[in-house]
Amino acid sequence: MSFNWIDKYVNGIIDYCYSRDIFEIYSTLDMIIRKIDKDNPILRGNDAIYLRNYFDEEIVFIRDDLPYQCEKFVLSHELGHAILHTDMDQAAYNSRLINRGKLERQADYFACRLLGAKIDDVYHYDMTSKQMAGDLCVREECLEYL
Ligand SMILES: [Zn+2]
Repeated sequence: MSFNWIDKYVNGIIDYCYSRDIFEIYSTLDMIIRKIDKDNPILRGNDAIYLRNYFDEEIVFIRDDLPYQCEKFVLSHELGHAILHTDMDQAAYNSRLINRGKLERQADYFACRLLGAKIDDVYHYDMTSKQMAGDLCVREECLEYL
């Protein structure tokens, strides 16, 4: 399945925000990032949850113990839902979920493009796909998008 149509949304958001820094983009779009304890009930056991209208604010709650690169990936993924899936009111992110539907893969693709993750033929040469995904802080299934 081709996700190329998503590229123009990624480029559009970078142009609009004059940045590809995920924190600057959230700030420009008035989207709020709230880091909370992983046991906070609002997360319902997920790594993050996006809410389009939480007391009139667009907000992502995200657990506060993720490594920085993973945090950026999750925030970029949730931004993907915000931009691409405008009829979704909320979206939970859970890295342990194996079966991921079309919308999840679209948001993953959006995040990979926005973050500009790339496979380096030399550096990643003899890594397994699991190691490579870990190094790039993307989901293993995302490697095919890079
Ligand atoms: Zn998602």
